[in-house]
Amino acid sequence: MDILVSNDDGVHSPGLLALAEAMRPFGRVVIVAPDRDRSGASNSLTLSRPLRPKQLDEHVWAVDGTPTDCVHLALTGLLPFTPDIVLSGINHGPNLGDDVLYSGTVAAAMEGRSLGLPAIAVSMDAFEPRHFDTACRAVAMLVRDMASHPLPGDTLLNMNVPDRPWADIRGLRSTRLGQRHPAAPMVADTDPRGRRIYWIGLAGAAADEGEGTDFHALREGCISVTPIHFDMTRHDALGALARWLPHAVTD
Ligand code: MN
Repeated sequence: MDILVSNDDGVHSPGLLALAEAMRPFGRVVIVAPDRDRSGASNSLTLSRPLRPKQLDEHVWAVDGTPTDCVHLALTGLLPFTPDIVLSGINHGPNLGDDVLYSGTVAAAMEGRSLGLPAIAVSMDAFEPRHFDTACRAVAMLVRDMASHPLPGDTLLNMNVPDRPWADIRGLRSTRLGQRHPAAPMVADTDPRGRRIYWIGLAGAAADEGEGTDFHALREGCISVTPIHFDMTRHDALGALARWLPHAVTD
């Protein structure tokens, strides 16, 4: 099996290295990841300049681009073979609910999926995680079982893992995305030259963390696994929109 591992925390991230190491028993592991922390990069592609991948080791590439750039590059020319699966992570910090809209971790997996490969995004529910081995065991189970349970073509898995030993995990749960409250306000300050500066604030607390959500699973000590698809169409709003939307262009 050939496994592509990427992330958004950067090629030197302990979470990425732990995941790559854990996947070695499955076959050839290739890392193509950003050369620095690109968390929050979402699905962005670098179009304004070329990318210069740097080979750090036989199967390790650092790319001066986004997570999406990395997977795109890996699957469309950089690698001389097509991997069997794309794994993204292990992210330092959770990707729950609407986090998936901003997440570079999820984006890397999504890019893999949109280029036709099975894909899993993996995140720890802690910003300084200690139990990567817990996530690695869960990913290994999924990688093993996914071959016989293929997902629909536009679907990937988003996994979030409590930062605790495997023995303290209460199971895996298939979940839906919960929802967060709006983010905390910008943090405003003044730079040494008197200009205003702003830092994006923290993500909001959970708003919808009801039963069945990824938030809920984590709170119960379970690993959440959410199937995500690309179709952002609100199908049940189509009918009402079609009724009030002017169909003819008049002056
Ligand atoms: Mn990250």
